[in-house]
Amino acid sequence: MRIGIPAETRPGETRVAATPETVKKLAAKHQVLVESGAGVRASYPDAAYEAAGAHIVDGAAAFGADMVLKVRSPDGAERARMRPGSVLVGMLNPFDTENLAALAGAGLTAFALEAAPRITRAQSMDVLSSQANIAGYKAVMLAANTYQRFMPMLMTAAGTVKAARVLIMGVGVAGLQAIATAKRLGAVIEASDVRPPVKEQVESLGAKFIDVPYETEEEREIAQGSGGYARPMPASWMQRQAALVHERAKLADIIITTALIPGRKAPVLIGEETVQAMKPGSVIVDMAVEQGGNCPLTELGRTVVKHGVYIIGEPNLASLVAADASALYARNVLDFLKLVIDKEDRFVIDREDEIVRATLVCADGAVLRS
Ligand code: NAD
Repeated sequence: MRIGIPAETRPGETRVAATPETVKKLAAKHQVLVESGAGVRASYPDAAYEAAGAHIVDGAAAFGADMVLKVRSPDGAERARMRPGSVLVGMLNPFDTENLAALAGAGLTAFALEAAPRITRAQSMDVLSSQANIAGYKAVMLAANTYQRFMPMLMTAAGTVKAARVLIMGVGVAGLQAIATAKRLGAVIEASDVRPPVKEQVESLGAKFIDVPYETEEEREIAQGSGGYARPMPASWMQRQAALVHERAKLADIIITTALIPGRKAPVLIGEETVQAMKPGSVIVDMAVEQGGNCPLTELGRTVVKHGVYIIGEPNLASLVAADASALYARNVLDFLKLVIDKEDRFVIDREDEIVRATLVCADGAVLRS
């Protein structure tokens, strides 16, 4: 099979879907066509791919392969370069029905890796986790870089400096890594989430959980989420959470928000009145910015100062750690390919496999998921 690795073209996207490490494994069985320069922004030069057994080609050849490995879903121009009947694997945004319809219309067999179920067998191919983990780390780095004080407590001859207080809103994969990273830097950390199992995880990392009690059975039931993901909480609970968070935010130096609900706009967790009440010079990193933001004052792609608070709206934080983000993503892809390439090295679709079924979003000209 010919496997193509095109360069990503979306603005700000620095990652690449295969690295020399994964190409070496693929090239043992397949013809691997890497577009010249595809890995450059992630510090993987053409020569490293060549040494791993890839052919360095132009974009037309990479997109013209039997199977194309991508980070982001191809845009219209890229789709037009792909052959009907070819296979596409990438983060295709399974909630974007318009995009899926376009992929199906182009006759592609497409796998959206974000749609893999959160089960143990899928962990090694879990792109949401591998990338959120990196993004959570980078969010703390960005915050520390903007924050004009120390993170750890320091006792010096010139006096004592207090440890920074960090508040993490939403403790999935990114939030847990943000807690761990801020902890390593010596901060004092509090965190909030809707899902009950999170409390124990937060505490095991040495942070304090902000308990927002459930007052009705309905609240408790919704808070369980579904498939490990959160569901929108009733307004009554959101109001109680906002009141508690408002008080904690007044004391915080850094807030990192990561709260998401699959397929929906991100919930608003830090309103303008809370920003107004925060200390001057404090920092918010809104990791949900691409889904509308957890703070209404966040601006996509910009750092703004509102009421004396720095609000960072940098999207795609994983792309700022391009080499490692690509390395982990490429391994996720390689592991996924084991499910769709058989022992004779042919492409197969095993619809009995729940990971294949969940990720297969387009086949035979139709969208298989909405
Ligand atoms: P996500 O990115 O979808 O959401 C981030 C966090 O925001 C979640 O913890 C969510 O509960 C939280 N959130 C949503 N609304 C909120 C609100 N109003 N206030 C506060 N927090 C709010 O989450 P994710 O990182 O993709 O993780 C989702 C789940 O998948 C988690 O349960 C995680 O443990 C689980 N997971 C399982 C596996 C596995 O078993 N293979 C692998 C990775 C993740």
